[in-house]
Amino acid sequence: MNKIELLAPAGDLERLKTAIRYGADAVYIGGKQFSLRSRASNFSLEDIEAGVAFAKQYGAKVHVTVNMLPHEDDLQGLIEYLQALEKCGVHAIICASPAIMMCAKQHAPKLEIHVSTQHSVTNSSAVNYWKRKGVDRVVLARELTLSQIEAVQGDSELPLEVFIHGGMCISYSGRCMLSNHMTLRDANRGGCAQSCRWKYRLYENGQPIHDEKVLFSMSSKDLMGARFLPDLIRMGISSIKIEGRMKSTYYIATLIHTYRMLIDEIYAKGSIFDQRMDWYCAQLAKAENRPFATGFYLGMPLANDQLYGVNGAGISGEYIADVIAYDSIHKTAVLKVRNKFDPGTLAEAFAPHEPLRQFIISEIYDEDDMRLETANQPMRIVKIPCEIPLNEHAMIRKVIDKKPIE
Ligand code: SF4
Repeated sequence: MNKIELLAPAGDLERLKTAIRYGADAVYIGGKQFSLRSRASNFSLEDIEAGVAFAKQYGAKVHVTVNMLPHEDDLQGLIEYLQALEKCGVHAIICASPAIMMCAKQHAPKLEIHVSTQHSVTNSSAVNYWKRKGVDRVVLARELTLSQIEAVQGDSELPLEVFIHGGMCISYSGRCMLSNHMTLRDANRGGCAQSCRWKYRLYENGQPIHDEKVLFSMSSKDLMGARFLPDLIRMGISSIKIEGRMKSTYYIATLIHTYRMLIDEIYAKGSIFDQRMDWYCAQLAKAENRPFATGFYLGMPLANDQLYGVNGAGISGEYIADVIAYDSIHKTAVLKVRNKFDPGTLAEAFAPHEPLRQFIISEIYDEDDMRLETANQPMRIVKIPCEIPLNEHAMIRKVIDKKPIE
C-alpha cells in the first residue's frame, strides 16, 4: 500500500531543503514565471535544478506551480519555460489554465500535470473530465466537506490531493476579485494584495454601522486538518498538501516533522488514539499559526471559524536557535541564535526523523568561550553544554505549555 504523500511548500532553496530533510515526500515551489504568489516565487531555473537534484538524493519530488490564469500576452515564452522545467527534472506542474496544460502535454510531455485548486474541482465528473484530457492528478477545491471528499474519491479515476493545513481565503479560493477591485492587483495572476485582511471602517448609506474608531478586518482562521488524516488515508487520497510558500523555515520544519511522525504512526499502528492526536495537534500549534479551525471539513465555516479585527499569525519567540554543530567529546552544541534565550531555559530540540528531546540550557558561551548572561542577538553564534547529541540540522525552541487555539 502506497503511503499518502506529504506535500510541503517552499519559498526558496533553503526551505525546500528543510522540508525534504524533515520528511516531505514532495515539495511545491513557484518559478519566476507563470505562477501565483509572485512574491513567494523566487526560484530561478538554476535554483529549481539544484532543488530537484537535492530532492532526488532523498527520493523526493519537486512540483512547480504554473498556476496563473494567463491573458493572451502572458503566454509568451511558455513553451521554452515548460521545456526548461522538464529538462531540470521537475516531476509535475500545477496548473489552472487549459492553455498551460495543453502546451505542456505537447511540448514537455515528461511533466506530470496536476490541476490546481484554483480550478475549484468539486466533483468526480470534473476529475474524470481532466483524466480524459491527459491530466495526472487533481487538487480538490478547499470548499469540500470530508464526506464530499469521500464521495469524489469513490468515483474518481485520478489521484486526488487535498489541503490539510495552513492559511485559508476568506473568500472562495480562486474566485476572489477583492484585490483586483481594491488595488488592480490580479489575485489570479499572482498579485493578491490580501485586501481581505486590511482594516476597514464600515458604512451603510454613508452612515457608520458601528463605532467608527473600531476598525473591521476579515481573515479566516488557519486550517488544521490533522484530525481528518486517518479518514483521508482510509479513503485512498493520494496526497496531503500544506499551504504556506511564504512561511518560515521554522514553520516548515515544525509542520513537516509533525505530519511525518503522524503519518508514519498511523500506518504503523493502523489507527491513532485521541490523546495521541491531541499531542500531535499541540505540536503543530508550535509553528506561527493563526488560531485554528477545521476549514470546510465539517461543513461551511461559521463566524467562529473566522477572525475579525485580528489578521496576523503573530511571532511567538519560541524558536530560539539552529544547531550548527555538536562536539560529542566535550558535549557542547554550537548554535545560531534566532530569538532571545537565557540560562535556565527549558528547551526542546527537534531534528529530521528524530523524536523531540527536552533539556535545560544551563550556560551560554560566546565563540571565545566567554560566559554570556543572555543570548539576545539574532544570528550570533553561541555554545552551550548539552549532554544530548544534537543533529546538525536540528532546531531548538523554548518549551511553552500551550494548547492549540481553536
Ligand atoms: S483578497 Fe483575501 S480572500 Fe481574496 S484572494 Fe486575496 S487572500 Fe484570498
